[in-house]
Amino acid sequence: LNRRLAEFGTTIFAEMSALATATGSINLGQGFPDTDGPESVREAAVRALRDGRGNQYPPGPGVPELRTAIAAHQERRYGITLDPDAEVLVTAGATEAIAASLLALVEPGDEVIAFEPYYDSYAASIALAGGTRVPVTLRPDGAAFRLDLDELRAAVTPRTRLLLINTPHNPTGTVLTRAELTAVAELAVERDLLVVTDEVYEHLTYGDAEHIPLATLPGMRERTVTISSSGKTFSFTGWKVGWVTSTPELVSAVRSAKQFLTYVSAGPFQYAIAEALALPDSYFDDFRADMTAKRDLLTAGLRDAGFTVFEPAGTYFVTTDIRPLDPAGDGFAFCRELPERCGVVAIPNAVFYDDRAAGAPFVRFAFCKRESVLTEAVGRLKRR
Ligand code: PMP
Ligand code: GLN
Repeated sequence: LNRRLAEFGTTIFAEMSALATATGSINLGQGFPDTDGPESVREAAVRALRDGRGNQYPPGPGVPELRTAIAAHQERRYGITLDPDAEVLVTAGATEAIAASLLALVEPGDEVIAFEPYYDSYAASIALAGGTRVPVTLRPDGAAFRLDLDELRAAVTPRTRLLLINTPHNPTGTVLTRAELTAVAELAVERDLLVVTDEVYEHLTYGDAEHIPLATLPGMRERTVTISSSGKTFSFTGWKVGWVTSTPELVSAVRSAKQFLTYVSAGPFQYAIAEALALPDSYFDDFRADMTAKRDLLTAGLRDAGFTVFEPAGTYFVTTDIRPLDPAGDGFAFCRELPERCGVVAIPNAVFYDDRAAGAPFVRFAFCKRESVLTEAVGRLKRR
């Protein structure tokens, strides 16, 4: 293994899902739903396969039907107008979109600022691109983890190339407010930075929280690369259909990298996701309502079980502080013991930090599971 990757090892998700299987535990670790997405969308994939649509290499940027549907979704939901031929690129999930964006836009030695805790592929993708990761830590501030705008400003140096942001944020569940995003945008304009924004949880916000795409803020359209994925929105994480939207120049740059990573993304699923994106608003509303009920069930249960809970405003994750249960606050040890103690798997947030001590007491649980599964998990955690 080369020096760029040596520090990374196996992803925590593979490790913890293997542990869940080996111990027969309830897996609230890796974020994937235990109920597949809409039947009509599965049927659309089967139809595409049968009709021979996408069984051979599809066009490099993605099939036109999907690019048009992505552009229409951005217009309908956010008022962002995109040229589907020049400003949309289909990728193999958001993971490839993140890697291809960094490989295309970062020169060796460039600094990339990312929020910490960060989704684990960010650090590895920055490293693959030869960039230097500069974390800015989101810290508990009352009921939620928040960005310290002064810390963000102070992290920018003449070598900063881009900001890699994520809202709604995995693993904390924080949704950046318009005021926070405006400050990020002003900083990007002032320091002439690109921003890559990971918005895969765009449809999962709760209560008053609202997802605001960074690209809608003044001055940002021309410097923002927006990433999303059908895995989270339509509960097909195994299909790996994601996308990038940006200016023609930036999309073309990202495509230059994508063509040598996967060349193109799998064909038939693209046709199916084109249909999914055209589902009526009621689909998105019902999905959010369902996930809200799951969030409420798990957060209440975790509180009853003694955890300090940071109520998520978005995503399908809840971050907890284990110190009321384990004064040592060692999330790694806690998660390693949890399957044996009570048959539940969770993720130690420390893996998402450079400053592991800062992340040590936090543990993440996923609530994208059937209510019966969440209820059983809560019962086990209470008996822990
Ligand atoms: N970004 C974030 C913040 C995620 O949580 C995930 C998936 N867990 C991804 C990207 C990857 O998405 P995909 O499965 O579409 O590659
Ligand atoms: N994004 C999901 C999570 O955070 C899992 C992604 C993965 O397994 N790579 O749990």
